[in-house]
Amino acid sequence: MIANPIPWPNGARCACAITFDMDADSLIHIAKPEDSHRRLYPISMGKYGPTVGVPRILETYRKYGLKQSFFIPGWCLEQYPETVEAILKDGHEIGHHGYLHENPTSMGAEKQRELFERALQAHKNICGSLPRGYRAPVYDITPEVVDLLIEHDFAYESSMMADDVPYLLKTDRGQLWEIPVHWGEDDWPPFAHYEEIGYLMPVRAPSRGLQAFWEEFEAQYEFGGFFMLILHPFLTGRLARWRLVDSWIEQTLRTKEVWFATLEDITRHIAELQAAGRYEPRIDKLPYYDGPVAE
Ligand SMILES: [Zn+2]
Repeated sequence: MIANPIPWPNGARCACAITFDMDADSLIHIAKPEDSHRRLYPISMGKYGPTVGVPRILETYRKYGLKQSFFIPGWCLEQYPETVEAILKDGHEIGHHGYLHENPTSMGAEKQRELFERALQAHKNICGSLPRGYRAPVYDITPEVVDLLIEHDFAYESSMMADDVPYLLKTDRGQLWEIPVHWGEDDWPPFAHYEEIGYLMPVRAPSRGLQAFWEEFEAQYEFGGFFMLILHPFLTGRLARWRLVDSWIEQTLRTKEVWFATLEDITRHIAELQAAGRYEPRIDKLPYYDGPVAE
């Protein structure tokens, strides 16, 4: 069912990544810039992520010996340096996720570059290193951002949806691995309820919301694929939900042949396979279109 399965290390049938986008309260500041500082409820809902959610998530990862990937806006790195330090101390990866969770499709090339590079500077200042991976806020990556990623020598990006397993993006300027996402593995649809940013989904019971993810895993596992969750500490880091994810990880490690890794490590593995002539990735050539499609 998967045309081009990737051979995973140590005979694992499936690579797994539970990634977290730690947006914290950036979402309300970008949505309501005039008066966000007075909106204490959404600020506090976001702050739950770095202060309560992430420590709980890190504890689980330590317990099972997992290294995973976090994507954090530059402003959040600056705002929550102790959380960043705890993530890095445990050996996890932190990727680029915009500066204040701004949407690249809403601005011109110059503004995109300014904020992209401002976020890079925050990584340098707070993490002490530059990120190797990128995920666009709300997945809204543009051709201009792809150019910036190639210019700044990123190894991968993780905002597009054109395949089940990682593939290669090529432009006239260079190339980049794509670690594909999908709304079916994102916790926003089952768990977010956020009127201020126009998101009013009925919140699912923890077991019901997560069940959709586990069915995605079963399919990827059966066909030797790649399973990635795109979660948010202020949503799935909450007690009842994370308790179930913790027991799913325990059971999966005990009963299945899986490889949990950071996206940086997964990218490196595939690049090495390709360099050794052991794997030929599917290639998507970008941009898809040179200009407006509908006149
Ligand atoms: Zn985000």
